[in-house]
Amino acid sequence: MQELRIVTTSWDDGYPKDLKVADLLSSRRLAGTFYIPIQGVNGKTILDGAAIRNLAGHGFEIGGHGYSHRNLTNLSPNELYQDVTLSLRTLEEALGASVRMFCYPNGRCNKKVIRVLKEAGLQGCRTTRMLHTSLDFRSFEMPVTLQAYPHSPMAYFKNLAKEQSVRALWRYMPSVCSSADWVDVGRTLFDIVMREGGIWHLYGHSWEIEELGLWAALEEMLDYVSNCREVLYLSNHDLLDILCRPLRRNLPESLPLYKS
Ligand SMILES: [Zn+2]
Repeated sequence: MQELRIVTTSWDDGYPKDLKVADLLSSRRLAGTFYIPIQGVNGKTILDGAAIRNLAGHGFEIGGHGYSHRNLTNLSPNELYQDVTLSLRTLEEALGASVRMFCYPNGRCNKKVIRVLKEAGLQGCRTTRMLHTSLDFRSFEMPVTLQAYPHSPMAYFKNLAKEQSVRALWRYMPSVCSSADWVDVGRTLFDIVMREGGIWHLYGHSWEIEELGLWAALEEMLDYVSNCREVLYLSNHDLLDILCRPLRRNLPESLPLYKS
């Protein structure tokens, strides 16, 4: 029996270039969760209801990301409740389906925020805690492996130090420090997941990829992790679903590949 290996991706803020990301994912049979606020960050244009339905219609998961991308930990109890419920209701009306996942705006969360999100009926939330590959994590504190962004080794170090993740610091910082760029880091961490099992989770912002000219690098990264027979390609919610079923923690004989 083999260890479970999962690849997932998630994309934040609902920018129009998310459609280009979706094309790149679809052509490689990769799954993705798009976390979309109701109002664009800093007034930026975001996907309209038809585009969101189109993404969902092509098999991608849509998750909540707050109403106007405010830091939820700074809101009063009433503001927090309003922001979460109104953002989910608006998204669900546009989709005609329930929303099960959420992503903390700016990655900020605390116990109060988590309680309100659980009460709203959500099943999990994604954070911005990088350099994680473990199958064990709390469903409302889903970590990621890396961001499609050229972080410096110091940025990775600060991200890990903030959550006092000694294991990840010890395990992954040598790879980060010796890698030439974020795609190298991604390859190294994917190789570790292939050897030892775990989750490889890439997240990003399509506007950032556009502004920094990272499309070719993103394609290179996606090519590296796609179409592996030993890997399950799942949305953020589906990976939680799999991990909640202890009997399915080992790979079946024939692997279901993600279908767009
Ligand atoms: Zn965001």
